[in-house]
Amino acid sequence: MSIITETIERIKLSNCATDSTFFQAVREVLESINPLIEADPKYQENSIIKRLVVPDRQIQFKVSWLDDKNEIQVNNGYRIQFNNALGPYKGGLRFHPSVNAGILKFLGFEQILKNSLTGVAIGGAKGGSDFDPKGKSDREVMKFCRSFMEELYKYIGATVDVPAGDIGVGAREIGYLYGAYKSFTSKSEGSLTGKPLFFGGSLMRTEATGYGVVYFASEMLKIEKKSTLENKICTVSGSGNVAIYTIEKLRQLGAIPVTCSDSTGFVYDKNGIDSELLKVLKFQKRTSLEEYKKTYHHAVFTKIEDYQEDSHGVWSIPCFAAFPCATQNELTEIDAQNLISNGVQIVTEGANMPTTPEATVLFQKEGILFAPAKAANAGGVAVSGFEMSQNASMDTWTTEHVDSKLKETMRQISQNVSQTASFYGHDKNYVIGANIAGFKKVADAMIAEGI
Ligand code: NDP
Repeated sequence: MSIITETIERIKLSNCATDSTFFQAVREVLESINPLIEADPKYQENSIIKRLVVPDRQIQFKVSWLDDKNEIQVNNGYRIQFNNALGPYKGGLRFHPSVNAGILKFLGFEQILKNSLTGVAIGGAKGGSDFDPKGKSDREVMKFCRSFMEELYKYIGATVDVPAGDIGVGAREIGYLYGAYKSFTSKSEGSLTGKPLFFGGSLMRTEATGYGVVYFASEMLKIEKKSTLENKICTVSGSGNVAIYTIEKLRQLGAIPVTCSDSTGFVYDKNGIDSELLKVLKFQKRTSLEEYKKTYHHAVFTKIEDYQEDSHGVWSIPCFAAFPCATQNELTEIDAQNLISNGVQIVTEGANMPTTPEATVLFQKEGILFAPAKAANAGGVAVSGFEMSQNASMDTWTTEHVDSKLKETMRQISQNVSQTASFYGHDKNYVIGANIAGFKKVADAMIAEGI
């Protein structure tokens, strides 16, 4: 039995009951790095595979807080510090009722290779809580964030572990978390990224993931000598940070993003989704997408309970390019079949692992360009790395400077991934290219650092 098959079996036995997404992520990575493992014995000799799939540290803690009725609420808090071979642990915090250690392990594992691809010296981690910010007052969110940080501050710091946002954690939550960090430690340092601008945030961090996703798709189309996104119909899922700025950048480039979705349903606007309205609905009013129709009467809103069994809303709309930007495993085999039948040319993952393994295989089999999340959505963490640099040097970069560095980072990642795939005999397979390129750098650092 090869080391890869043996490790996959071991992970399945020890994790699958609770961590099916973790198993899914590990299997995809290990199966695709086989060409590298076979080509170079040093990775086996140093047991890199066995070492990489186990987190350095998994911290779980209780978060007790008082709601507005003065009643005590209790949630689980987590931080999974997966690997710091390349630099301080780095990865977002997710606040969502579905959060558990398994989901965070999957996200933390993916983060190691994603961060490696950015070229910034950062390791991989992920954290969060099953706390749901939806429907909570600002005061309740603040009290929760303070209690969460009362434990987390012991394990993080500018050179140790630097969390950021993710689902349910935006500028408001990062602001409260950072305020609490300062009050527990008396330190003003870059211990979190995604901070508001007036206390150490970076220009463009908010836009970075979505803009980076579109830059990546554009570069990939260029590398593969396909037509540009201009005037092309695009479908986008989600309506949070990643989706909104993907839509915004698509419109800036002359594309026509016609959909967005949330946990209540999806909007189809044939004239192109208005990202400014989405910002109002989602960042200010924190309301359902159903309200989009109040401004644009011609748009169609389909409730989630009215979705057909054989399609998941957004993916039934014909498009040139699809951008899943909501959550994991949201684009299934059936959705892939629908997209392919409707002529999709490129699928770019904005969310983490939004495409199921079966759907990914189908896209690849049919020759559809497929950009995996760890490469395509790395722009957010890259700009987080730029925020860390600015904090360390007490400097502020201009929007133009950050944007040009982001664009260049996405160009370099796409080139690196494409060339790595070709070098190992898998031309156009960006999944294999991203996994090998990301893995190689981390593995080489682990070997150089010893055990
Ligand atoms: P947000 O919390 O800002 O937004 C998530 C959006 O997805 C919300 O609109 C939410 O709906 C919607 N959503 C959640 N579940 C579903 C579902 N089952 N069907 C349809 N819509 C759904 O999160 P982000 O935009 O920050 O994150 C989205 C994805 O991108 C995640 O996978 C995250 O890990 C990944 N990512 C984020 C980065 C970042 O910088 N923020 C960086 C890299 C990756 P509702 O409004 O109803 O809750």
